[in-house]
Amino acid sequence: MRLAILSVDTIYLDMNHELDFTSPGKEEKYMSEHKITQDNIDIDVDASSTATNNNEAEALSNAAQKAASTNETDTGLDNTDSNNKDVNDNQDESYLPLLALRDVVVYPHMQIALFVGRAPSVKAVELAQAEYGNKVLVVAQKDSLTEDIDQDNLYQYGTVCRIVSTMPHDSDENCIKVLIEGQYRARVDNIESHDDLLMARFERADLDVSMDESQKKNTIQALTTLFEGYADARLRNARELTRVAKRIDDLLELVYFISTRVSMDLDVKQSFLEENNIKTHINTLTEYLVKQSAEQNIEQDIQDAVRQQMEDNQREYFLNEKMKAIKNELSDLNDGAFDGEDDVAELEQRLEDADLPDDVRKKAEQEFKKLKMMPPASSESSVVRNYIEWILDTPWNATTKVSINLDKAKTVLDEDHYGLQDVKDRILEYLAVQSRVKKLRGPILCLVGPPGVGKTSLGESIARATGRKFVRMALGGVRDEAEIRGHRRTYIGAMPGKIVQSLAKVEVKNPLFLLDEIDKMAQDFRGDPASALLEVLDPSQNDTFNDHYLDMDLDLSQVMFICTANSMDIPPALLDRMEVIRLPGYTEEEKVNIAQKYLVPKAIKNNGLKEGEIEIVEAALHSIVRSYTREAGVRNLEREVNKICRKVVRDSVETHGARAPKKAERQLVTVDDKNIDDYLGVHQYDYGLAEEEPEIGRVTGLAWTQVGGELLTIEAVAMKGKGELSFTGSLGDVMKESIRAAMSVVRARGDSLGIDYETVKTTDIHVHMPEGATPKDGPSAGGALTTALVSALTGIAIRPDIAMTGEITLRGKILRIGGLKEKLLAAHRGGIKHVLIPESNERDLADIPDNVKEGLTIQPVATIEEILKVALVDMPKPLKPAKVTVDKTAGKALHN
Ligand code: ADP
Repeated sequence: MRLAILSVDTIYLDMNHELDFTSPGKEEKYMSEHKITQDNIDIDVDASSTATNNNEAEALSNAAQKAASTNETDTGLDNTDSNNKDVNDNQDESYLPLLALRDVVVYPHMQIALFVGRAPSVKAVELAQAEYGNKVLVVAQKDSLTEDIDQDNLYQYGTVCRIVSTMPHDSDENCIKVLIEGQYRARVDNIESHDDLLMARFERADLDVSMDESQKKNTIQALTTLFEGYADARLRNARELTRVAKRIDDLLELVYFISTRVSMDLDVKQSFLEENNIKTHINTLTEYLVKQSAEQNIEQDIQDAVRQQMEDNQREYFLNEKMKAIKNELSDLNDGAFDGEDDVAELEQRLEDADLPDDVRKKAEQEFKKLKMMPPASSESSVVRNYIEWILDTPWNATTKVSINLDKAKTVLDEDHYGLQDVKDRILEYLAVQSRVKKLRGPILCLVGPPGVGKTSLGESIARATGRKFVRMALGGVRDEAEIRGHRRTYIGAMPGKIVQSLAKVEVKNPLFLLDEIDKMAQDFRGDPASALLEVLDPSQNDTFNDHYLDMDLDLSQVMFICTANSMDIPPALLDRMEVIRLPGYTEEEKVNIAQKYLVPKAIKNNGLKEGEIEIVEAALHSIVRSYTREAGVRNLEREVNKICRKVVRDSVETHGARAPKKAERQLVTVDDKNIDDYLGVHQYDYGLAEEEPEIGRVTGLAWTQVGGELLTIEAVAMKGKGELSFTGSLGDVMKESIRAAMSVVRARGDSLGIDYETVKTTDIHVHMPEGATPKDGPSAGGALTTALVSALTGIAIRPDIAMTGEITLRGKILRIGGLKEKLLAAHRGGIKHVLIPESNERDLADIPDNVKEGLTIQPVATIEEILKVALVDMPKPLKPAKVTVDKTAGKALHN
């Protein structure tokens, strides 16, 4: 048997606000005056657990029990067993006092605690208790704000209720607390207004709940489940309510139970009561519950997402704080040695300020995130930081304004360099084309020449002339692709390649980039670095140059590349992309001019000398060029001039102190060819071979080396022996072959040269080229070697003022050679007056500047005989008169 009422919770109609029966007063007043309480009825709930905090409710509940037991006999009601209610309900009653309720609809089977304050209502309750067996008809008021009760403001359907118990109100004597229980549904027919209360005439209106058992059961099941979900999400003490709902096996009672609990407007709740078809009522209720559960799900999802987000944020915050604490601990341990925080903040600021392309910024920011997560002292963090710093140092967007004004460029080039007219013209042409096409397409300029001829300084001048920044990258000794392109970041100590490093140094992406000594790189280590350079120099590829370290594409297309080299020994693929401009070196006149106009003023300035303190006269400069330097360029000349200036400065400082002397105090030091030794010491080189005596077996050849043209002394001696030929002087294979060929030429001409076979057979010949430490190679000394051999074997001396160049064939013909310009310059430098060159090189003379040709007798020769005629002081006597033999193969007559 079920207990009907064990506890009563009462809550406000505005929901969720629990009425505190323990502190009556304001709230109760409010309730009695404006609202009527809504029920909250629990069945089968342990009284102690729900009512202990609610003394008044407990009391009311106890009173209810008492009332129930006392009324049992009088009224025949059994409020402890609702199953018997049909028996107890008075079927005939149709006239009862009317209790109008505001904001609440009471359904049959439901219990509700009310504060009743309005006079007619109090009267109705009292009358019901006194005369109507505790029964009242409870009807909801349409407009809950209206104080007066009249028929128009009342709904037509209500519920006949039994008054279970009443209690006086503690503080308001006009008000009473009433516990009522719904009995059955009734339709009001007529309301009579008596003196101070309303009486209602009504008809019992029970609902037809006929449906088959299984349908009933399923409906009960479905409703219970839906209610469970609803209660879980929206109601307090959901568990108890669900438990109660689950025990209700009467469909109508369950429907009313749920309808009481759901939060709906009064008119909807009333419409449930008025509904004659229980199925419609159930459908409406079900729809409502389903809708609520769907909304609940969405709400739940949102709430979950919000909670998740909050948790994540909290987690991140927590971890960051933890990280900070760890870092602090570590820095304490390390004596504050790593204040990584500052660095990171600084880096972040730099990152924010940097002008980076989007993809680069994305990458940098990713790395920065990683960095923040790392302890600052770890090696990994320094790797990441380095990487970010390199990204920030690389000029992705920065440029300088490039101007291509030819007049200005010409002025700048002339200001910086003496002579070099061809070279300057070529550079101006190059700039002119660029001003038209706006893009740096086309071949790369490559300046080739010996050291000190101004290749690098020309590069600087071009940069100045075009408004670009200048950066130089030395390729000498570069042996690895990684030096150009960088190492992948996986290597320990990885760095970007020299290209990126240089750009980072110069801070713009459109500098003039001088690739210095490109032949040195290629010469020592062909292959890899050259192929990386190919990509750098190729205008169709270099807008996406990929440095292995940065691992991002860098645009090099705005860089102006200029290469320099000492020799043409450049990998063919690179050479293919270049336009070579040769700077052969300077004549003595040019050097003196350069010294006067550029080097001396520069040296005076650099050494802190003032006007009127030093004068280096022209004769001194000639002397330096001839006796203290032997070079194609002017680097040593510059050094010697500086040396003179230094000495003068030292003397001045010793007499005047560090402060530069006033104009009046200045003493002019004049350096001329007489006192030059005081400054530069003894002569390093002897100028001019012309003064020397003719010698047997000693001839001067002209050689070409990377440092320009050179005079090459060739010596040959003949001595008694067994006809052997030996040679020394660090000779290359080609040179050795040349000596053999020369020997054959001499022997083949033995008769006409007066050299008999016996002499050859019993004579050993030794060929030597002094300065044995310098490697020598190449075929162009063939003519000179032959001359030396002839001289040695015949004992006829060779003129000292003659130099020669030319390859020799076995037939005694002189073949074409390269580097004529450099060789002639060397002859000029060496004080040679007469130069023999191959006839086939005669056309190249057009290219040789007049000042080089001046003072030289240049004689083209086609055969060895022509050379011998000029070079030997005497022509040898033939052994016997020349005889004519017939060359059968060619059908030509040859002199033997
Ligand atoms: P390279 O790069 O060819 O080895 P540099 O460019 O270093 O030679 O030149 C060496 C020095 O000689 C520089 O100080 C340069 O200014 C000077 N120089 C070379 N040629 C000239 C010239 N024609 N006019 C003025 N100075 C020159």
